[in-house]
Amino acid sequence: MNMRDILFSRLANIYFGSLRYLMLELRDVVLPEIPAIVLSFFKEIHEVDELATLIDNSVVTRNLLEAMDHWWSALFRPTNALEVEQFILRQLEIGSKHADLNINLHYIHHAIRIFKREIHSRLEFQVESTEKQVAMAQLLDELLDIVSSLMSDSYFKNLVKYETDTLSLRMNALSQNVAIECERVRSQLLDWSKNILFNLFQNRRIDPDTMVYAEYSVVGMWVFHKAELLLPEPAMVDKLKHYLRQIDMELSQAATLRSGGLKTKFINKVRAFDSHVNQTAWYLSSLVEQIVKLDAGRDTLTSLYNRRYLDTVLRRETEISMKQGYSYSLLLLDIDFFKKINDTYGHDAGDAVLRQFSELLVGTLRISDFLFRLGGEEFLAVLGNTSSKHAIVIAEKIRRECEQRPFVVHHDQVISVTCSIGVAVYKGHPDYNLLLKQADQALYAAKQSGRNRHCLAGEEQR
Ligand code: GH3
Ligand code: MG
Ligand code: MG
Repeated sequence: MNMRDILFSRLANIYFGSLRYLMLELRDVVLPEIPAIVLSFFKEIHEVDELATLIDNSVVTRNLLEAMDHWWSALFRPTNALEVEQFILRQLEIGSKHADLNINLHYIHHAIRIFKREIHSRLEFQVESTEKQVAMAQLLDELLDIVSSLMSDSYFKNLVKYETDTLSLRMNALSQNVAIECERVRSQLLDWSKNILFNLFQNRRIDPDTMVYAEYSVVGMWVFHKAELLLPEPAMVDKLKHYLRQIDMELSQAATLRSGGLKTKFINKVRAFDSHVNQTAWYLSSLVEQIVKLDAGRDTLTSLYNRRYLDTVLRRETEISMKQGYSYSLLLLDIDFFKKINDTYGHDAGDAVLRQFSELLVGTLRISDFLFRLGGEEFLAVLGNTSSKHAIVIAEKIRRECEQRPFVVHHDQVISVTCSIGVAVYKGHPDYNLLLKQADQALYAAKQSGRNRHCLAGEEQR
């Protein structure tokens, strides 16, 4: 049985197996006490500095109070297998949410300890039989331990996802360098072959045994020592090695034929050598393109970031803002009547508009801002350390420039394009998904009120 099945069967035993009646008795003691328990919980977590700054926000407090209430009632609710499954999923969700919010796992454990202590003391007061007291306390402990284990599991899974994405974000920056290196290796290969050809035709004496073969030139050194670490796919390295060996084979034969005075055969071999060199040079160029495409975090049409890094970036921006007390802003941008552009001028024209629109965004925003193409004709700008006043100025600037800029769809055809923008500003809530939702609602409002405008998300952070 895997861990999940084991936990499920323990919960089934608690909720609708042999422990059911004890569970109902426990519920009757705990349910009326929930408001008081939640209150002492809040008091205690306020003593933890890191948590105090987090919950020093009325919206967070309200949400957390509500969430706690729900959680407690849900803890006693399941009566069948389906409800137990739903209960498990909910605990997993809570665990990954804590990872999203970057709330350390030991605070979950801290909370569970507080709950256990609070309930144990009530059991002591309210349950007469000591035996019963112990049995109920054990049941409660097991239930809360299962919950904590489910939350921890999904917490770590989510954390690993973030770490991996952060790492590959760094790796992607590197892939630009790899592409540049491939270009340099290509030009070294061409230089080397020019030199070889010169020697083959000009030098009187040529010794096939002492020539510098491709495999031992800088190009070969790069392929055999470095490429394996740098190129994203092993097959790319294998192919390069194979090409170099082919080049060397032709070269060795050409040199032998020349020393033997077989002119026509020599010339044919030189041609074969040259064509292998060219093939390898061409392959190196195509590698550059392949590597750039493999840059999975980038959108191929506009080269902006795609959704893959959205969570990582928003989570980091939230963390920075929380620590430094600044705001960051989101601009959610959507091209107006884009479908009509596609329908009227064709899909290629639509693509051209998307490219020009993303150029406009890149040109207007700071290098420190993040730009995503979320899909279709929807873009997101994440503006670090930006207040709502400033965000509105930027949104307006983009809107105006878009409206005024000629968009070229065919050689001599220029069209006008407008966009609508939803603006949302971080106000201390740790859940960036709420901010995304607000930006979305603001964008919707901008569309509804006539398009070609921005709209700032209301103060309601729910
Ligand atoms: P609104 O003003 O309400 O935003 O209307 P709209 O027409 O811009 O929005 P809608 O969502 O109805 O249409 C978006 C269109 O974008 C539909 C889809 O075919 C097109 N689209 C999505 N991705 C691409 C793409 O990569 N290239 C092109 N050319 N079109 C795309
Ligand atoms: Mg649109
Ligand atoms: Mg759209």
